Amino acid sequence: MHNPLTKEIDTTNAPDKNGRFGEFGGSYIPPELQTVMDDVTRAYEKIVQDPVFLAELSDLLTHYVGRPSPIYHAKRLSEAVGGAQIYLKREDLNHTGAHKINHCIGEVLLAKQMGKKKVIAETGAGQHGVALATAAALLGLECDIYMGEVDIKKEAPNVSRMKILGATVIGVDRGTKTLKDAVDAAFEAYLKDPIDQIYCIGSVVGPHPFPMMVRDFQSVVGLEARRQIQEMTGNLPQAVVACVGGGSNAMGIFSAFLKDEEVALYGVEPAGKGLDTPLHAATVTKGTVGILHGFKSLLLQDESGEALPVYSIASGLDYPGVGPQHSYLHTIGRVNYESATDREAVEAFYGLSRMEGIIPALESSHAVAYAIKMAQKMDKNGVILVNLSGRGDKDIDYVLEHYPLVDYEVRHDNGNGFRDFLANIKEQ
Ligand SMILES: *Cc1c(COP(=O)(O)O)cnc(C)c1O
Repeated sequence: MHNPLTKEIDTTNAPDKNGRFGEFGGSYIPPELQTVMDDVTRAYEKIVQDPVFLAELSDLLTHYVGRPSPIYHAKRLSEAVGGAQIYLKREDLNHTGAHKINHCIGEVLLAKQMGKKKVIAETGAGQHGVALATAAALLGLECDIYMGEVDIKKEAPNVSRMKILGATVIGVDRGTKTLKDAVDAAFEAYLKDPIDQIYCIGSVVGPHPFPMMVRDFQSVVGLEARRQIQEMTGNLPQAVVACVGGGSNAMGIFSAFLKDEEVALYGVEPAGKGLDTPLHAATVTKGTVGILHGFKSLLLQDESGEALPVYSIASGLDYPGVGPQHSYLHTIGRVNYESATDREAVEAFYGLSRMEGIIPALESSHAVAYAIKMAQKMDKNGVILVNLSGRGDKDIDYVLEHYPLVDYEVRHDNGNGFRDFLANIKEQ
């Protein structure tokens, strides 16, 4: 049995009663929405004490999502890289292929408990939309998904999935037509009918209680992983690595290790075409304090406080904000925030595919890329645990079109063969 919710709450892990992690988080929303948020907070505080709710959540995580997800020792990849041992927490094996189903089931169960008829949400890569549409189908609620037109084109199979699952996909064609604009549109729709609908935020962002609630629902990943890695290796890992978009998969795995001071934690942000270009979404690395979508955090913003257009090869990572707990953990120095470029992510994407037969999501490939870099500097006894947040089926056509392999037939052995193989990835 696994407890899906964090039982021990310490000051690094819990927001205060106003939903603040240090100076970050809180709630900056119109009064009419605040009333609704207060209801959500009260309902959440009640259900996490309710054994019936916890039993239902636990049952669905086990029998529907397929938890616990395994940890896998990527031996061939580790050997090819030459250095520390890389272990993967296989969230890609969950039903729907990513970690997001963990919090979607929790959110939709909560919505049902509160008597809501419809769940609404934004989506970037389409993963949150699919996960929410899935949970809504499972639990019998209506579902509206707001999605940027650019992402709708890029992620066509996920759009089809949502439609088949019974959700209504609403295209957003303002601004950069990506994730941030979809969040804006979904917030507006929520304001129009906050009684029958509930906004199920797709990451550890938004006003209190969402950063806390989504993290709690994702904490099952860390609780399992901490136990599994000790069973497999006899010890805690030297490092835990996760990609950071809004930051939910990272908070999920980090939450169980925050107290283990000997475990270094790394959040990997998308450096896109480079941190010295405007084409990235490295919010913690390059951001400043501001307010977006109802919460205070580090943001990529211009001088007037407008969120900047951001970019990543991974649609799920191109968000100009980041969960408030990440900003806090950065400020106190508990988590290191690093980044990986598009190119590095694609090399990791191909590398993991060829060396292990696992095609990772481009989002997760950022974490794998950073783990590969870090492993090279460590010795063979080192252990790096990577949260493999999702599978890459959604990305295969995009990668083959934009990063074709010059020579498909290339044989790759360990060592140099692996690097030669990566050098054969063209960019176009
Ligand atoms: C959405 C998504 C992410 C980014 O979201 P976080 O909230 O930062 O976890 C990462 N990986 C996958 C596979 C995703 O679908």
